[in-house]
Amino acid sequence: MEPPTLADVLDAQRLLAAHLPPTPTWNYPALDATAGATVFVKHENAQPTGAFKVRGGITLLSRLDPVVRRRGVVGYSTGNHAQSLAYAAHLFGVPCTIVMPEHPNPAKADAVRRLGAELVEHGATFDDAAPHAQALADERGMWLVSAANDPDIIAGVATAYAELFAQQPHLDAVVVPVGSGSGAAAACLVAAALAPGCEVIAVQAADSPAAYESWRDGELLRRPNRTAVEGLATGSGFALPQQVMRERLTDFVLVDDDQIAAAQWCLMRDAHTLSEGAGAAALAAVLADPDRFAGRRVAVVCTGGNASEAEIRRSAGLGEAAVAPALALSRRS
Ligand SMILES: *Cc1c(COP(=O)(O)O)cnc(C)c1O
Repeated sequence: MEPPTLADVLDAQRLLAAHLPPTPTWNYPALDATAGATVFVKHENAQPTGAFKVRGGITLLSRLDPVVRRRGVVGYSTGNHAQSLAYAAHLFGVPCTIVMPEHPNPAKADAVRRLGAELVEHGATFDDAAPHAQALADERGMWLVSAANDPDIIAGVATAYAELFAQQPHLDAVVVPVGSGSGAAAACLVAAALAPGCEVIAVQAADSPAAYESWRDGELLRRPNRTAVEGLATGSGFALPQQVMRERLTDFVLVDDDQIAAAQWCLMRDAHTLSEGAGAAALAAVLADPDRFAGRRVAVVCTGGNASEAEIRRSAGLGEAAVAPALALSRRS
């Protein structure tokens, strides 16, 4: 399997122009003051599904062979890849079955059902849902869509970075949250072609470090998967994104769930932006290492806004007592 080329990304951009408007990239002085850097927020939370993954889903399904389209697709996901597939399947009239780990974020589960996909809950984590999805696909003669090991998905996701570098051509760094790595790999590919001076920095949750350790050690590893942050909760490295990240990623860092919650609150307070945890992880990485980013122009990708009601209430209710230590902790380290 080969990663997509810039030509593939530009093809995907032409295709997506018919379905999704570009998302904005905004700078907020209040957020700059908090971060001590010039921060640009790429608003993928403004997608119709509330997350960037819909770029990959539409690109992939638009290119499916007609026989596969008729039989349908199966996906497994903690929620946003699911919504992306369900949205694209609805758009193109493709039957769609989604396997989510049990007790999913209700907002994401309801969204998938409302888009007309069949939802099956199975297993405790993303990694338990995967073999069940494979079994269902085999049984029903449907096609199993990988979350990331697919050049069309990465090409579609990469359109976000083609937009970003057109919107902000003089970035010093872009920080991308990682679960499977499709987003970070996409950022690497596009930066190499359009913004070679821009660092690409990946961030994963410290409680689910499989992608980070796979990148660091140069082999696909399985690791405990305990973060509460959906989207970052993967237990193993994915081959295609890892291959790209190994060649091109500037750095990969970890943040803990409390730092992510504090960053989620900062996005609400300073940028009037509701993010889910994964959507705030890039900002958390910037806040965690102020010396590295001081005075620089850095883009953080707000990858998604699909926080559950419980998460929104928790985040909005975080007092200074919860937020200040997470920020102070990061300022010291
Ligand atoms: C899936 C997801 C991520 C991680 O993206 P990958 O391409 O799987 O690394 C980050 N944030 C959100 C909101 C997501 O849904």
